[in-house]
Amino acid sequence: MSAAQNSVVPTLLVKVFGKDRPGITAGLFETLTAYRVDVVDIEQVVIRGRMVLCALITQPPGGQEGDLRAAVHSWAGSMKMEAEILSGTGDNRPRGSGRSIVTVLGNPLTAESTASIASRITATGGNIDRIFRLAKYPVTAVEFAVSGVETAPLRTALATEAAALGVDIAVVSAGLHRRAQRLVVMDVDSTLIQDEVIELFAAHAGCEEKVAEVTAAAMRGELDFEQSLHARVALLEGLDASVVEKVRSEVRLTPGARTLVRTLKRLGYQVGVVSGGFTQVTDDLRERLGLDFAQANTLEIVDGRLTGRVIGEVVDRAGKARLLRRFAAEAGVPLAQTVAIGDGANDLDMLNTAGLGVAFNAKPVVREAAHTAVNVPFLDTVLYLLGISREEVEAADGGLAEH
Ligand SMILES: [Mg+2]
Repeated sequence: MSAAQNSVVPTLLVKVFGKDRPGITAGLFETLTAYRVDVVDIEQVVIRGRMVLCALITQPPGGQEGDLRAAVHSWAGSMKMEAEILSGTGDNRPRGSGRSIVTVLGNPLTAESTASIASRITATGGNIDRIFRLAKYPVTAVEFAVSGVETAPLRTALATEAAALGVDIAVVSAGLHRRAQRLVVMDVDSTLIQDEVIELFAAHAGCEEKVAEVTAAAMRGELDFEQSLHARVALLEGLDASVVEKVRSEVRLTPGARTLVRTLKRLGYQVGVVSGGFTQVTDDLRERLGLDFAQANTLEIVDGRLTGRVIGEVVDRAGKARLLRRFAAEAGVPLAQTVAIGDGANDLDMLNTAGLGVAFNAKPVVREAAHTAVNVPFLDTVLYLLGISREEVEAADGGLAEH
């Protein structure tokens, strides 16, 4: 423990501001070396080419503070930087208990939204310790480290603000577990892909409208999923099996889906999908995207035609949560370190079983029940909720050859 952690020890806060150029940080500390001071804390930010460098240092021994001040100002002047030196005591105020990470996704992020979010954080008793931009593409993503308030009330307060402002705000408790998340399981229809697969099949069978009505009712939670699945699949009876290949080629990935999966894989995550749709499509997606796990219902095909039945265990709302547990067990990842993403009522058990459940452009009933919601149509924004910045995503892409 250094002397400066004692709150009565005198310390100096040195702030240097100006145009960023190579050698500023080295130059400041070389100037300070002559005064035999210790470094208590350093923070440096560069924004649009301007640098702010703050160093908290111990008081120099032997009454040399005046000389140190003169030396720092003289060096800063020679670098065309401004310097400010404030006397005080001790280290930073200890951060309050109850630490959370608040991630804001704005498209765009306005000054008005930022003001509302910051004042709402303050109103809950929270203090903003740090702010960091994670991304400017495809949305502006900013992370606030907040202390002094428990995560749950902060999440509730900011959920109201998010709805009013039309921005996405995710609140998770800070800590090592956030960086330890190691398995991501996604729903497929209207999450990983933009389509509802049964509707693609229905288009080939000429029963789109009938199927769409049943799907919508099921997603709103008005119908038992298993009954609705059987009713819809029955409408496909007699369809030629060659349609499977056509449907595979019609599936449209959600924007950002490839980036999300590729980045997670490079970071060592395991990635899976669970779907109330069909293995005839999810197996193909597993192959194309290099997924670790995929499970769905299987359309029965006899003599080259769909029979209108599914075979095997039905993947419904409870089944999705069960599969998340199974994948987690197979991956050797505790449930607290899993992330689930989905949009429909049949994803709710899975979202609430995971360590972090993300409602992705979800129905209101799902959005309200999930830990966090993303309402921008880009799947890769989920990376920002995990604290992965756009720069890290792009660096990972640049660092490896594309095949
Ligand atoms: Mg879905």
